[in-house]
Amino acid sequence: LFISLEGIDGSGKSTQAQRLAAHLAHLGRDPLRTREPGGAPGAEEIRRLLVEGDPDRWSPETEILLFTAARRDHLERTIRPALAAGRDVITDRFADSTRIYQGATRGDLRGLVDDIHARVIGIEPDLTLILDMDPEVALTRGLARRSGEDRFEDFGLAFQHRLREGFRALAGEYPDRCVLIDAGRDADAIATDIEAAVARRLR
Ligand code: C5P
Repeated sequence: LFISLEGIDGSGKSTQAQRLAAHLAHLGRDPLRTREPGGAPGAEEIRRLLVEGDPDRWSPETEILLFTAARRDHLERTIRPALAAGRDVITDRFADSTRIYQGATRGDLRGLVDDIHARVIGIEPDLTLILDMDPEVALTRGLARRSGEDRFEDFGLAFQHRLREGFRALAGEYPDRCVLIDAGRDADAIATDIEAAVARRLR
């Protein structure tokens, strides 16, 4: 299975990716945990270009191309080989993040995102878990970390609210592969829902 976790910053994606990997390993499967932007040596270099520097370092269009370049490398070097070897792949973010972060929040770039995706990526996860939560809760829980090293950190609460709405709309747009998870609860309850969604997909 190819599984992606999506959601706003601080929604607990990496914690749940870790828990899901442990769960699948416990079932005797062979999960690979990875992330975007990054997930392969070249893609991690592109990640640095993306997250370091001034907030206006790249135009929205250039940013889409860089995220897609990183995704193509991640797909070639990490995702496809693992799936071909029969492993499950769990990625913290995939193309939906670009659809929402670059495509839905800064002008109408969604068409460009979809065109580029169709030509150079072309695959969707079997299952996309959208961790849905109130951005204010993410902040007060301290989940949204502020390391000061990420040029995306200062987008603020209004931006996170737009992202949340974007992800919720996406779940409606791709109902076959997307499952909306209420991530405003404790980690155990979230993990239980995720395990149930994965079990439905494995049947
Ligand atoms: O998920 P992660 O924290 O690793 O992402 C790094 C930064 O890149 C975050 O601040 C996230 O909001 C941003 N990002 C983005 N567009 C994407 C994916 C991530 O702006 N498509």
